[in-house]
Amino acid sequence: MAKLRAGIDLGGTKVQAIIADARHKIVGEARYATPTTGGADAVVGALVAAVKEAAELAGVETAELAGVGLGAPGDVDDKKGTIDNAGNLAGFDHPVPVAAMLKEELGVPVVRMGNDVSVATAAEFELGAGRPFRSLLGVFWGTGVGGGLILDGQEWSGRGGAGEIGHMVVKEGGARCQCGRLGCMEAYAGRRAMEAEAKRREDEGEKTILFKLMRSRGRDRLTAGIWNRALADGDKVARKVVDRAYVALGAGVASAVNLLDVEAVVLGGGVGTKLGDSARARLEQEMAPHLFNDDRPPQVLLVELGDLGGALGAALLVKRG
Ligand SMILES: [Zn+2]
Repeated sequence: MAKLRAGIDLGGTKVQAIIADARHKIVGEARYATPTTGGADAVVGALVAAVKEAAELAGVETAELAGVGLGAPGDVDDKKGTIDNAGNLAGFDHPVPVAAMLKEELGVPVVRMGNDVSVATAAEFELGAGRPFRSLLGVFWGTGVGGGLILDGQEWSGRGGAGEIGHMVVKEGGARCQCGRLGCMEAYAGRRAMEAEAKRREDEGEKTILFKLMRSRGRDRLTAGIWNRALADGDKVARKVVDRAYVALGAGVASAVNLLDVEAVVLGGGVGTKLGDSARARLEQEMAPHLFNDDRPPQVLLVELGDLGGALGAALLVKRG
């Protein structure tokens, strides 16, 4: 019998672990909140606990697994087995030897690591919405906007930094981005930037239910669900800020398509998935005026693997080991 593999999706808010069989069927899964205190040891501890729990549900000892794949933010060095510069993770402002720590704690022979967005794009390409295509652009719309590329059937990572679609310039000298530069797509479309813009409008006296919804739900940020609700209630500020995000996404994604001529764009991420088909349709609409080859636009699709795509993609890393 082929051995089972574990996949972990490590994000700023959650750790999702799965156990997959040879046919990519999920036979165990566990989700933990990402620790915000206790530094890197606490974060790796959550990875270990999530894999152990998922393995137990799958009826397997972790030492019997073929290996563990991990998708993570920041600078992920698969050769050295380290993660560095992961701004959303506490304790990852220096290289953390995550692979060695996981091997030690789980007793697994192999730990492979990849960038979270690339891993999720590869999963959609092999198992999800991207299956019919040879070239693909994954757009992950969440706190920021991440991108993943498949060109001619192969992942394209450039010199390690490709796919930063959030930092396509959509307005010369425009809004300041989290990265410090001006006019990036993410400075208009990232969830964090959208929240800042809504706050600015509220401070200037515009009426909005966004922050009331946030407080009533006991949240400390405007989640995708809150945006969705405010839009459904006809909130004008929410409408304006979301429209601004779509205009930026349309320009940025269409520009990337003009350069690469991919067959399909697959939209995912926390916000993209939550807004679902309305986001897909609106992205397609906002891209249209910018497409140079406008007689044959790419297909614009939603991710198929949803929340588990990152973890499934991480498990795929092991197969390639
Ligand atoms: Zn930027």
